[in-house]
Amino acid sequence: MIVASDNHERASQAQPSSWQHQLSHAIRDPKLLCQRLGLDDAWLPGAQTGHALFEVRVPEAYFKRIAHNAPDDPLLRQVLPLGDEALARPGYVTDPLEEADHRPARGLIHKYAGRVLLIASPTCAVNCRYCFRRHFPYSENAPSRAQWQEALDYLRFEPSITEAILSGGDPLAASDRQLAWLVNELEAIPHLKRLRIHTRLPVVIPDRVDSALLGWLSNTRLQKVLVLHINHANEIDPAVIDACARLKAAGVTLLNQSVLLRGVNDEVSALATLSERLFEAGVLPYYLHVLDPVQGAAHFDVPDDEARALVTRLRDHLPGFLMPRLVREIPGEASKTPL
Ligand SMILES: *Cc1c(COP(=O)(O)O)cnc(C)c1O
Ligand code: SF4
Repeated sequence: MIVASDNHERASQAQPSSWQHQLSHAIRDPKLLCQRLGLDDAWLPGAQTGHALFEVRVPEAYFKRIAHNAPDDPLLRQVLPLGDEALARPGYVTDPLEEADHRPARGLIHKYAGRVLLIASPTCAVNCRYCFRRHFPYSENAPSRAQWQEALDYLRFEPSITEAILSGGDPLAASDRQLAWLVNELEAIPHLKRLRIHTRLPVVIPDRVDSALLGWLSNTRLQKVLVLHINHANEIDPAVIDACARLKAAGVTLLNQSVLLRGVNDEVSALATLSERLFEAGVLPYYLHVLDPVQGAAHFDVPDDEARALVTRLRDHLPGFLMPRLVREIPGEASKTPL
């Protein structure tokens, strides 16, 4: 018998329905992904090439929302590696947001007034091909409990900070024990008012929103905002709607951010349906980001003029409160920049 690592062993023994089990059994082989979707063999070499640059990761609960033998499926396009990822394009770089310049402590990014990002987990439950963190040096940014003290001290001595944003990777890939500990430390800092969590986990593995998560989330004195990351209405299935309902019942304000992606959601109808479906799930659209120029993702780019035209036409279809704000992140700016 192969000796599994401690983590893997625990995950294997977990109930098949538990999120830990689902996370550790995600599809991580490009060949298996192509085969199970009935894709033509012609897709495999490209998938292998992209996988070598940024590994495939697709949990079963997300996989089952992808259509069979449909290379243009908007969910598949977000997770299937392509040979195009190996193409270089001028201006597309490995750290497009220049975050490396804004780390006063390990695991902490302070770029905007009043709020900081805490890198609470180095990994994600799904690997999105367009991700601006696909080259992120995660191993250097996953602090241990002792190492968190430096970041927590920074917050303690910076009274201007009122909001802590858990980010990653995906912060909800961390264990509830670890998250409960961190939130407990944060809420002891008197000037902190809000806890914000940026996550894709409730979307890709809705069972992540379990009683352990809801326990520490319900108990904190901090106001809670959870920003989901959903790019297409097909990602919102009944399990996701249920997960959102559980979060809302725990007093969490739910928002969504999307990335505008060629071949995924670059049409007015796709964006309008996404906003409508989000609201049905109790989620308000927040940001629609244009793609960050990350190396390997240039094939997802939608030019600014087209992005603006799309959003202008979208306004004809939606009430104002369902309109996401079209923004770009520009290194050195004090906030996201509206387009
Ligand atoms: C996006 C981002 C935030 C949050 O910005 P909001 O406009 O408040 O959503 C905070 N810190 C960093 C480094 C960010 O990239
Ligand atoms: S979940 Fe978010 S951080 Fe993780 S790969 Fe996808 S876009 Fe990137």
